[in-house]
Amino acid sequence: MAQSNSNLIERDLSVIWHPCTQMKDHEFLPLIPIKRGKGVYLEDFEGNRYIDAISSWWVNLFGHSNEYINSKIREQLENLEHVIFAGFTHEPIIQLSERLIKITPEGLNRCFFADNGSSGVEVALKMSFHYHKNRGEIRPLFLSLTNSYHGETLGALAVGDVELYKKTYDEIMIKSIQVPVPENNSVEAVEKPLQELERVLQERGKEISALILEPLVQCAGSMHMYHPNYLIGARELTKKYGVHLIADEVATGFGRTGKMFACEHAGISPDFMVLSKGLTGGYLPLSVVLMTDEIYSQFYCDYTLQKSFLHSHSYTGNPLACTTANATLDIFEKENILEKIAPKIEYIGKKLEQFRDLPNVADVRQQGMISAIELKGYRPEERIGLKVYQYGLDNGVLLRPLGHVIYFMPPLIISFEEIDKMIEVAYKGITNLLTS
Ligand SMILES: *Cc1c(COP(=O)(O)O)cnc(C)c1O
Repeated sequence: MAQSNSNLIERDLSVIWHPCTQMKDHEFLPLIPIKRGKGVYLEDFEGNRYIDAISSWWVNLFGHSNEYINSKIREQLENLEHVIFAGFTHEPIIQLSERLIKITPEGLNRCFFADNGSSGVEVALKMSFHYHKNRGEIRPLFLSLTNSYHGETLGALAVGDVELYKKTYDEIMIKSIQVPVPENNSVEAVEKPLQELERVLQERGKEISALILEPLVQCAGSMHMYHPNYLIGARELTKKYGVHLIADEVATGFGRTGKMFACEHAGISPDFMVLSKGLTGGYLPLSVVLMTDEIYSQFYCDYTLQKSFLHSHSYTGNPLACTTANATLDIFEKENILEKIAPKIEYIGKKLEQFRDLPNVADVRQQGMISAIELKGYRPEERIGLKVYQYGLDNGVLLRPLGHVIYFMPPLIISFEEIDKMIEVAYKGITNLLTS
């Protein structure tokens, strides 16, 4: 039987609970079954095509069904699909680790693998706490920025600060304190938050294992952006007070900000870097935590000393996932992707100007291939983002606003024509709000 949208929707809704979704919304909001993807396009079972302007939740880099990545998976599939990663190893992961160490900031010399962004964050948090404990210090606190997001497992949720996701679970959170993120991406906005960071480190530094932050762009925090000088200051202060710096580049890594990693804009090296999302080009779940030799060495000892990091996931370092990650790095190298996106970033920047004068626009911001338009004058109950989302779908563009912030984070291979269409549809969606 040929599948149709409606048939699949009905079957789905009778058995599935979707992530980050109030399922009752689907009484009026149609689910969209996707039949295939090619390049920046997704296509449903009725032949409707949508530009994936959000890279399928910020993961896709080089388009759907990328021929090069596909061929690499096929090759790997013939050899090895998976193997236990304790006591055993495989070539794709060794190659990947060597390459990641080369391209990440100086000093990150060791890779620990997990299978999604949240569990990567958990690894970094546990390892940081455990490092201090191995040195005879108990530091039960983590420090993070206001408005931050680090994932949704309990530990990752606890260090985040997006109330919508966190508030319900208040009673069962591990301890974290938040220091203010700079208000905007100006140089001036950096000063006060750094003073506040130093005050907290001075007062409670000995209780704090690490400061975790999303460098430059707080993606789930409505694409809030801040100046690289904050990172420079935070790196200096965490060093001075003996607290680890964890850079959560799960979303910002792999070219999104215009450089391979957002930390490069500030020229800093964190003690830990967490990568996922774009790591596999948007193909398969995989995450990696890179850390310094100093951290690794605090765990290296005789087994009986209880200093070992006994953390694992069944699918840690899956060979197929590592293969897609290697293929992703191949494409970055062979196709000079970082050079190729520079004119696109500039082009998007020019096109964003038209939004600034609209009466319902409060702010327009951009960092590399990530850009956002913040609307004003609406109450949350109006669910203004949902209206733009629906308008986008009706007109062939998948936008998925965060509340009243409309944003673009397209695959890096998006063409200039596709950028035109993506922005034109968003513009009409936003101006429509003024007349409806
Ligand atoms: C998405 C995200 C995570 C969590 O990754 P998952 O794979 O969704 O668990 C963590 N940190 C940041 C900055 C993210 O954007």
